[in-house]
Amino acid sequence: MKKYLFFYHLFFWQIFFISSNMTAQNDISNKIASLLPTSILRSSIDFKDTSGNSTNLPIVIIKGKETGKTLTILSGVHGYEYPPIMAVQEFLKEIEPERLKGNLIVIPITNKASFYGRSPFINPQDKVNLNNAFPGKLDGTVTEQLAYYITENLIPISDVFLDIHGGDASEDLIPFVCYYNNQTKPDATAQAKWLSESSGFSNVVSYPYNLKNDEPAKYAFKQAVQDGKVGLSLEAGALGNVQAEAVKLNKNGIYNTLKGLDMYHSKLDRPKKLVKYNNQAYLKVPATGIFYSELRAGDTVSKGQVVGTITNLYGDALEIIKAPESGTILYKIGTPPVNKGETLMCIGIPQE
Ligand SMILES: [Zn+2]
Repeated sequence: MKKYLFFYHLFFWQIFFISSNMTAQNDISNKIASLLPTSILRSSIDFKDTSGNSTNLPIVIIKGKETGKTLTILSGVHGYEYPPIMAVQEFLKEIEPERLKGNLIVIPITNKASFYGRSPFINPQDKVNLNNAFPGKLDGTVTEQLAYYITENLIPISDVFLDIHGGDASEDLIPFVCYYNNQTKPDATAQAKWLSESSGFSNVVSYPYNLKNDEPAKYAFKQAVQDGKVGLSLEAGALGNVQAEAVKLNKNGIYNTLKGLDMYHSKLDRPKKLVKYNNQAYLKVPATGIFYSELRAGDTVSKGQVVGTITNLYGDALEIIKAPESGTILYKIGTPPVNKGETLMCIGIPQE
């Protein structure tokens, strides 16, 4: 049966493969409407900018047997964060459209140039961080065009928008799921909270939301939230490695989201106890230099505790870093170089 399904999928993949320019007709909702139930479409959108840079966005559309919600899954917005990318690879091999209700839009790697260029945070072509570029620009650099395409074409047709990240090359991080506490959109926020709490991640982070409607959202899933969608993000994996446990958590998070949306049902692991972090304290790098810290992501710190030292290149201490609040380190710079102004550490303050 499995084998039959494999060929069945392959058949549709080969029939439906479309590559188009950003300016060409690429209305994803029309593509979904024209697809037969239980089929899969692999598509690709090309981008080119005036500096001569070009890239493309791979899109997989899976139409379920029955109608239902549309979930968009993004991985590889940061191309050096591998556990999300590998989780989506496994998911694409496993998903059976016959069991799916609704539509899935899956981006296996959003920032291909960053992935193949082994470039943390930014697209090496234009040096832009895609997760800082939303809502993007139609006539911008390739990364800005990518952001614009997602804002204009994918977010509007999504009911739920799931952006998967992990610790980048220099980031130590504990796994968590996060959403925005957007009090201007209580229904979408309540659903994001509920999906987060049933995602299989035991650490649930809620970020404050003070974004004005005319302010750039910067981040992909914050853009979705600004546009009134249910948005959440998974974070698992650290320091640019592929940890099997992080791949599993991210994949489990996808299946839990599908189950929560009544789109796909499977047997899942869910933790019994959740730790909720409704407040965060950020430490910024006060001086460029070499960072020494014995602490790891997941360690608890108390207010005023020394969490690390920054030295100059001659070994002289420049700054002694102290925790501004008591809590758990959600993520921190986990490698020696630090640049003034970067986020050195994020401390999650657990809810009492
Ligand atoms: Zn990321």
